[in-house]
Amino acid sequence: MDAKNDIRGASSAPAPVPLAIIGGGAAGMFAAAVAAAAGLGCLLFERKARPGAKMLMTANGRCNFTKDISPEQMLADIGDPVAPFLRPAITACPPARIAGGFRSLGVRTKRMADGRLFPASEKAADIVHAFGDSLRDREVPIMVNAPVTGIHISRGGFLVCTRHFSIPARNVLVATGGMSFPKTGSVGDGQNFARSLGHRLEPCRAGLTGYDARVPPPARHENATARIVASGRTMCEYKGEVEFERWGVSGAAVYNCQRWTARHLPQGKPFTLELSFPGGRLSLENPHPRPLKEAIVTIGGVSRDDVDPATMMSRVVPGLYFAGEVLDVDGPTGGYNLTIAFATARLAVASILASRRR
Ligand SMILES: Cc1cc2nc3c(=O)[nH]c(=O)nc-3n(C[C@H](O)[C@H](O)[C@H](O)COP(=O)(O)OP(=O)(O)OC[C@H]3O[C@@H](n4cnc5c(N)ncnc54)[C@H](O)[C@@H]3O)c2cc1C
Repeated sequence: MDAKNDIRGASSAPAPVPLAIIGGGAAGMFAAAVAAAAGLGCLLFERKARPGAKMLMTANGRCNFTKDISPEQMLADIGDPVAPFLRPAITACPPARIAGGFRSLGVRTKRMADGRLFPASEKAADIVHAFGDSLRDREVPIMVNAPVTGIHISRGGFLVCTRHFSIPARNVLVATGGMSFPKTGSVGDGQNFARSLGHRLEPCRAGLTGYDARVPPPARHENATARIVASGRTMCEYKGEVEFERWGVSGAAVYNCQRWTARHLPQGKPFTLELSFPGGRLSLENPHPRPLKEAIVTIGGVSRDDVDPATMMSRVVPGLYFAGEVLDVDGPTGGYNLTIAFATARLAVASILASRRR
């Protein structure tokens, strides 16, 4: 036997991978691309047969991946209580940096009048393929059909387990997403891992969804206003699209009102959804939001109090990081939620790189 191929004398314990990323969605793929570009060895685990299933659905398959506004404006639009937590991530990875990153991966981009950015092709697949090509070129291993079943603390790091094998890792990034559209693979595993490792969870509920209601026949109004009125006061107001569906009301202005209500209005507090649109007005008393499984985003998840906003590292388990919708973070419609996924992922990887230099 060739001496250099003789592994009989080698240690049987495999060297831990510097970073195991759990979840091949927006946050996980962005993290893998950033890590690989910086020369940090990483491995990506994805539950489904292909990464990026939810990204392919975004903006009806067009992928509104960020918004061309300043980080200050983005944080103002996201609002309390989430924005202060996201400040370090979004300041370090503002929309301009995200757009530049995609352009450097060969994606031509297109700006709408309101600043929303899309791939010029308006095909979300172009973004997913750009990630795929970048990870292939840098030889980042991606395990597909590989749902992680547990993360265990071990000497010098972690053991990341699937049903069939386990891999040692120095650092772990949990990027398993929220709990909406579970067919895309985001089913709440990351929240369960976090809880089993001692983190608090905020209850998961629907964000950016429509309301069940009896409404006029199906119609779409571009220049409409939706507002939430409670205790005789206008609590929030959004302009934009309002759409009457067979089951109720949807559209960006309604989604943003629903997010505001889910974040700020105590459960059970009466409110009115007031809609004004060209040629009409409609008031809906205490309408019911559509279920979490149909929501654009999940409100709730891993408590912000248990994660350091300056690094995205857990305050409970050193070496464990979180990014994206698994966290109790969310934004309005218009590219904010993908921005949050990318920016938190980038900050986690930057923090791991910085900790290795110390
Ligand atoms: C219909 C729709 C349209 C949207 N449009 C937009 C838009 O235009 N702009 C915008 O900014 N946002 C949009 N969003 C929101 C945006 O898609 C999400 O906020 C974003 O994808 C969250 O990224 P993430 O990486 O945290 O989670 P995800 O993208 O959901 O990725 C999580 C990944 O983790 C994998 N995973 C889960 N558990 C495990 C496990 N145990 N082991 C291995 N892998 C696992 C999943 O299979 C999945 O691939 C939209 C969402 C929906 C549903």
